[in-house]
Amino acid sequence: MDRYATARDLVVARQPDRPTFGLRPHAAGQAARWFLEHFPGDVAYAVKANASPFLLGALYGAGIRHFDVASLPEIEDVASIPDAHLHYMHPIKSRTAIRRAFFEFGVRSFSLDCEDELTKIQQETGNAKDLTLWVRLAVQPKNSKLPLERMFGIQPAKAHKLVAKTRLVAHKLGLTFHVGSQTTSPEAYVSALADVAALIGKAGVVLDRVDVGGGFPSAYANSRPEPLSDFIDAIKSAYDTLPVSATCRMMCEPGRALVSEAESLIVRVNSRRGNELFINDGAYGALFDAAHLGWIFPVRLLNGIQPAKSGEFAPFSFWGPTCDSIDRMPGPFMLPATVREGDYIEIGNLGAYGRAIAGRFNGFGAYEQAILLDPPMLSVYGKETGVGHNRGPHFGKDADAAEMTPPPA
Ligand SMILES: *Cc1c(COP(=O)(O)O)cnc(C)c1O
Repeated sequence: MDRYATARDLVVARQPDRPTFGLRPHAAGQAARWFLEHFPGDVAYAVKANASPFLLGALYGAGIRHFDVASLPEIEDVASIPDAHLHYMHPIKSRTAIRRAFFEFGVRSFSLDCEDELTKIQQETGNAKDLTLWVRLAVQPKNSKLPLERMFGIQPAKAHKLVAKTRLVAHKLGLTFHVGSQTTSPEAYVSALADVAALIGKAGVVLDRVDVGGGFPSAYANSRPEPLSDFIDAIKSAYDTLPVSATCRMMCEPGRALVSEAESLIVRVNSRRGNELFINDGAYGALFDAAHLGWIFPVRLLNGIQPAKSGEFAPFSFWGPTCDSIDRMPGPFMLPATVREGDYIEIGNLGAYGRAIAGRFNGFGAYEQAILLDPPMLSVYGKETGVGHNRGPHFGKDADAAEMTPPPA
């Protein structure tokens, strides 16, 4: 794959007709090293956030060996990785998927949130005696942009019977939860771990594993989370009060936080109508979150004349390339007021749930890609891991346009 120093260099060299992913595997590596160094337990990458082989390779190179998978195709993607530990963390699985995961791919770690699923897992694995079974709890989201507790999880107050039953058949018993994606402050993890403490007492079981799930935040133009080190500190002190044995291990399953900084999308302006730009990717492509969840990704103009002062920036909304009127990203995205047809824009921090969601509606959804060597547009990791630079988002010196974007209303 071609490599360029920056997205601007890519545009100068290629003037791509298709929307183009600019991959920064080094950013995924940096995020992984940060988690491996700071999180006191196993770090499992949630593959659904982005299954690009380049990013999986960077995460592996940084030391990631655990993977949270949710489907057979995801299992196929990562099963061939040497020394990979797969955790099948979708609480509702088909019988075929359980059977093939166990017998063909050697998966021994499964989550569940009801007795029916426990029965299915036992039947389809031939009552295996070597399983790690995680009971998924529904916990209260706090400061999450994308709560998940309505779809999965058993209420902690009602979970003691299921937990005790699972204990009887599990080689290793774990509890797991997901506080909701893009959780911007640590309280949700603390309150979930308090639920775990109460439940262990009520069920009267010994736990082997506690999985705090995903939800760790990334930086966006309208979402500046608390420092990641505060999340780790809060989780550590809540975990230390749990009545678990000395051999109990913690796990986390970040998706977004490991890969969001590792891809930009480079789009071209096909038309301008006032402060609305028609660009060549959108809601049915990699910009689903910008359209449906109001995410404001950092943006910068790649080939326009850089304005002399910030006053020359203006707010823009985007239309995607399809013929559907919900193909709209409201923003506002702050760009130089001079932006015009034919210009290219870098949309940053799109590595999580961008490429992974894109479909082929209206014939769109084909991308080019290349490696970029410069820093991500916004970073929560600072320059080096473990040297105290991780206090809040760090802005690369080239992130001028991103810094112009106003804070949330
Ligand atoms: C999606 C998902 C994750 C990753 O969530 P992020 O918010 O991207 O960190 C982790 N665990 C489970 C079970 C998930 O479904």
